[in-house]
Amino acid sequence: MPVTHPVAPGVADADVLRRQDPEMADVLLAERDRQAGTLQLIAAENFTSPAVLAALGSPLANKYAEGYPGARHHGGCELADAAERLAVQRARALFGAEHANVQPHSGSSAVLAAYAALLRPGDTVLALGLPHGGHLTHGSPGNFSGRWFRFIGYGVDAETGLIDRDQVRALARAHRPKAIVCGSICYPRHLDYAFFREVADEAGAYLIADAAHPIGLVAGGAAPSPVPYADIVCATTHKVLRGPRGGMILCGAELAERVDRAVFPFTQSGAQMHTVAAKAVAFGEARTPAFAAYAHQVVANARVLGDRLAAQGLAVTTGGTDTHLLTVDPAPLGVDGRTARGRLAAAGLVLDCCALPHPDARGLRLGTAAVTTQGMAEPEMALIAELIGGVLREETGVTRARSLARGLAEAFPPYPG
Ligand SMILES: *Cc1c(COP(=O)(O)O)cnc(C)c1O
Repeated sequence: MPVTHPVAPGVADADVLRRQDPEMADVLLAERDRQAGTLQLIAAENFTSPAVLAALGSPLANKYAEGYPGARHHGGCELADAAERLAVQRARALFGAEHANVQPHSGSSAVLAAYAALLRPGDTVLALGLPHGGHLTHGSPGNFSGRWFRFIGYGVDAETGLIDRDQVRALARAHRPKAIVCGSICYPRHLDYAFFREVADEAGAYLIADAAHPIGLVAGGAAPSPVPYADIVCATTHKVLRGPRGGMILCGAELAERVDRAVFPFTQSGAQMHTVAAKAVAFGEARTPAFAAYAHQVVANARVLGDRLAAQGLAVTTGGTDTHLLTVDPAPLGVDGRTARGRLAAAGLVLDCCALPHPDARGLRLGTAAVTTQGMAEPEMALIAELIGGVLREETGVTRARSLARGLAEAFPPYPG
């Protein structure tokens, strides 16, 4: 099989770059080696396929295609139209949605467009508070969301770590929001979309599901779909879904036009057509039985990792996970989240800090999407948990931990060949 990874050594593209710009070629090859030589446990990351990378490196990168298929503001868009139509058809079929917009440049752009479609500046929005795992676009004062809307935050129960439904209902009754947002950057459990729909209906609010994280599990049948419940579903294509960096919006036929206008021309102009093509490639992969098996293995791996981390003495929020991600508190091992992240990074285990149910402390967020793409399964999750426990208790020295992490990563190359 020919290797098509655009920055792999010995490949034509890499040679072209090296001849012209060795400085940048060194950076890209070093990044490739970093990704392949350490353990990627960042819950939002994955390894796209060589086919997705090939689409990203294709000449569609050169094409301007403002507008939508059949109605562009530029000439020469026949093939850009074909690429976008494929992406839209595949997204609609994959998620059972009446309408899909595949142009948002990122997850945040998708959320911005959803707000633009449904809200006016000053409107009240109910969303998971940032100290409990809400995303920047769910009301951060430094983000357009917090600047332009009045966000009310709901939270999770300090004991169970589960979304406090009574609070959601009470806040919806008290504040009568124009929209309710469900979705998080670190909630490890499935969301009860029917519950949020019911609360939204009672309050006369729109329901926006920000499914940036779980949408790949939804595609693989390993998580419930928000599509039947939410007025608008926002998503990313680069997390568990394993496509190119980018966003996507799904909705019913009645909001289709508003959503399309909110993306173009309201919040974006020219779509990145090479990325749109790569999204289509990823959707094509996601409809295969192999991807469904992958999505289920991601969850199985996260469950084992959670069990084994608990056995190592870390406090696993909500007692486990339904998804690809876990949040854990390393405090029982005598180390806080930030220190733990630094110690693990030095050992070649790459992960993030995150909110905990008691927002005074920071925890660790881990995800299994990337290591599962590499082919790791339950036995490797047990090894990773052991490594994490050993590093955090300072029983395993940095040099030894680093070589163990490298050995494990290199046994499962993300781009074999
Ligand atoms: C990742 C994420 C986003 C934003 O995605 P970007 O592509 O980084 O803009 C938005 N919402 C949630 C819940 C996310 O997890």
